[in-house]
Amino acid sequence: MDSASPADPHNMKRRGVLFVLSSPSGAGKSTIARMLLASEPELSLSVSATTRDIRKGEVDGRDYHFVSLERFREMVEERAFLEWAHVFDQRYGTPRAPVDALLAEGKDVLFDIDWQGAQQLHQIAGGDVVRVFILPPSMAELRRRLEGRATDVQEIIDRRMARADAEVSHWDGYDYVLVNDDVDACYAKVKTILAAERLKRSRQTGLIGFIRKLRTPAG
Ligand code: ADP
Ligand code: 5GP
Repeated sequence: MDSASPADPHNMKRRGVLFVLSSPSGAGKSTIARMLLASEPELSLSVSATTRDIRKGEVDGRDYHFVSLERFREMVEERAFLEWAHVFDQRYGTPRAPVDALLAEGKDVLFDIDWQGAQQLHQIAGGDVVRVFILPPSMAELRRRLEGRATDVQEIIDRRMARADAEVSHWDGYDYVLVNDDVDACYAKVKTILAAERLKRSRQTGLIGFIRKLRTPAG
């Protein structure tokens, strides 16, 4: 999707970035996503739909669209999802329409989705997609973070831990892999990746016109 970028002094057109953050649950991707969204006005979050229960502190429509299994199935039938997957015996999906609208507005879009979603999105949108995987420094620290977050009962924490190894095994399906030891350092790296990806020649579709003008005798 092409759009003029307000952050660019030459107002040159560029393709929006589909920026995927994945991690085993508890490694810190939501924390980093929140920091990124607060500092990047050109980046908007894709709010997924899920059949799982709402957690304390979550807001329907902001963190997720919390829907029934029946509604989720209807949305699948209506082809309302760009991608969807089973995660922890629940269903999670990326609504298609808001992503199209954000790209048309010239925004980059942030996706907090798992490896299955990252893979599907890459199949659909190829070079527009940037996939970043966040690892915990150790599995013991991952458990400490899940327990410290205090949003899930012990049984759910155990299930998330049991799945963590399988999640980590998909590390090679990503363009960038980071260890979230110090949250500020990891966030700085994610920001650097986004900045560099925005500058890629393949995204700077306005360059051709700019160069043509630059090379005319009066340019
Ligand atoms: P995820 O979205 O990957 O499930 P969260 O962002 O919810 O994980 O982080 C899980 C918990 O770990 C939260 O309580 C968060 O504040 C904490 N956390 C995140 N990054 C770090 C870090 N680098 N060091 C210590 N705690 C962290
Ligand atoms: P949580 O229940 O902790 O919010 O999320 C569980 C997992 O589901 C996380 O790995 C998260 O990234 C993933 N997830 C959230 N939304 C989507 C989605 O729309 N599609 C896919 N494939 N995964 C998602």
